[in-house]
Amino acid sequence: MRADDILLSIEKLEVVYHNVSTAIQGVSLKVYENQIVALLGTNGAGKTTTLRAVSGFLGVDDAKITEGSIAFLGEEIHNKPPHLITKRGIVLVPEQDKIFDNLTVEENLQVCVPVSKGKVRKGDQYGLVFKYFPILEKVKGRIGGYLSGGERQMLSLSTALLCNPRLLLVDELSLGLAPFIVEELMGLLRVIRQEEGVTLLLVEQNAFAALEVADYGYVIENGRIVFDGDPERLKGHQDIREFYLGLGGQDSQRSYREVKQYRRTRRWYG
Ligand code: ATP
Repeated sequence: MRADDILLSIEKLEVVYHNVSTAIQGVSLKVYENQIVALLGTNGAGKTTTLRAVSGFLGVDDAKITEGSIAFLGEEIHNKPPHLITKRGIVLVPEQDKIFDNLTVEENLQVCVPVSKGKVRKGDQYGLVFKYFPILEKVKGRIGGYLSGGERQMLSLSTALLCNPRLLLVDELSLGLAPFIVEELMGLLRVIRQEEGVTLLLVEQNAFAALEVADYGYVIENGRIVFDGDPERLKGHQDIREFYLGLGGQDSQRSYREVKQYRRTRRWYG
């Protein structure tokens, strides 16, 4: 990978909520152009906070970046407001409040405008969305609140796509969805990356699903990156297999750090 191809670079980031509670500490990660990168971790590990920091939405929850930096295409963006970050081509698909529940599918799409100057697409914007998610065309008159979990996720990805993203930040795509829908959506992300030239940073608790499509993965725990590597390396690492992929072992109920500590102690004391 060439340094020139780095799209997003996070360096030693620290985020504090309400001036007292440190949620992430010293997080560094890189996303190269046209990659799919997975940020994996359990509940409360700091995944959403990382995405909020990149997209500029920390203020909504009274959080601040207290250390470190975030650069997009070499330009520092930390502490910039969300609308300016989106304009540069970074678009967030949030974990909650994805769509307007009281608007129809069509109305949800109509409120989207291509804010990023990056890759303005000509022609039929809805055609682009319906090409990837044909089911949405069939239910375009349905109220958002009546959509299934999978359809909501598709609509939220669609509204993000209509913003012309260069980097899509996707928070917990798989949450609450049946495995076959997760598989279908993850597969579609690969196609969208390929055909639309969109780079993706996926935040996931579902390490299995994310590592199937990712080119590179980071594991975050208690606000710190504890491991990173390509998917094969991550899937092959014993601790990751036991704790994040749930592939057996007495350690599967412990945190990654506890597993490491336990093993170290066992080595020292036999
Ligand atoms: P989840 O999938 O459960 O959202 P996560 O990995 O995305 O987990 P974060 O939501 O980023 O984790 O939370 C990281 C830490 O920050 C946790 O300790 C959490 O309690 C804390 N935190 C998150 N949101 C707030 C908030 N609004 N106010 C105070 N602390 C918060």
